[in-house]
Amino acid sequence: MPEHHEVVIVGSGPAGLTAAVYTARANLEPVVVEGLAAGGQLMLTTEVENYPGFPEGIMGPELMMQFRSQAERFGTRFITADADRVDLSSRPYRITVGDLEMTADAVIISTGASARMLGFDSESRLLGHGVSTCATCDGFFFRDHEIAVVGGGDSAVEEANFLTKFARKVILVHRRHELRASKIMQDRALANPKIEFRWNSEVIEALGDDKLAGVRLRDTVTGEESELAVTGLFVAIGHTPNTALFTGQLDLDENGYIETAPDSTQTSIPGVFACGDVQDHTYRQAITAAGSGCMAAIEAERYLETAKHLAQA
Ligand code: NAP
Repeated sequence: MPEHHEVVIVGSGPAGLTAAVYTARANLEPVVVEGLAAGGQLMLTTEVENYPGFPEGIMGPELMMQFRSQAERFGTRFITADADRVDLSSRPYRITVGDLEMTADAVIISTGASARMLGFDSESRLLGHGVSTCATCDGFFFRDHEIAVVGGGDSAVEEANFLTKFARKVILVHRRHELRASKIMQDRALANPKIEFRWNSEVIEALGDDKLAGVRLRDTVTGEESELAVTGLFVAIGHTPNTALFTGQLDLDENGYIETAPDSTQTSIPGVFACGDVQDHTYRQAITAAGSGCMAAIEAERYLETAKHLAQA
């Protein structure tokens, strides 16, 4: 017999854990399937300076530990594994995690988004051998090296700035002549003497047999190719929503993000709510993810309350 719960939350970044705090305080005894890479993208960041309540800033992993303890304090149960299957075809919904089968009256999806890759073979072959998607995790290994960061958004610029703490030189490779990053981040990078910019350039190959020895670039205007002798390549070109478990079950937008009703976290299936980066491609901030996690919890609570009344009537 599967275990039955009122609410199961899949995903444990700021959205999922905020939903857990709220549903736990509403006595819904939530279960969070937190995943093997628990805590979401903030586990891969360094200092978070823009989360209100921490005037001096806080490290991303530390912030997530605090979210988790707060959810735990009100009785949230955590399952530290990835969900294998979520079946939303009939109510109660069914969630499979290894040998554990659960049913739930309401499901909150907060599975976040994952780093996007450039997509050529040498990139995946050298991933972990000079190619990385996480400056926080791997920056330390590049002390005094010359490295490259690809991308022109906030992530790339933030990583480039962060990596100058370790690297001798950071070359930011961007496919256009203009950064997408916010003005304050751009100004910081432009003023950083350790950062060099390679405009109108794309990385087309990672060079090296078992360790990165350089990258091949192509000029996006002239098509001319050149090589850059770097020992590190940080790919920071955005993210893809983690919706594989829900494809074919929930309405997704053209980029694969879960569609929700306006001003709501309600998905195309009643009692199934989506919050955080899996649903938000506009703001993608910890604070907005937390806010939408709160919305999902309140909406789930109201949904369960209404369902109870209807069942009694
Ligand atoms: P993003 O804003 O989507 O930027 C992705 C960057 O990568 C763009 O500059 C894009 O180039 C480039 N790119 C995409 N695909 C590429 C490819 N195949 N080859 C080469 N370049 C490619 O993603 P993000 O930087 O991860 O930021 C996502 C969101 O999180 C944003 O809303 C951002 O503000 C937020 N964020 C905030 C902070 C912060 O406030 N501390 C930190 C990180 C992220 P084009 O510009 O030419 O499209």
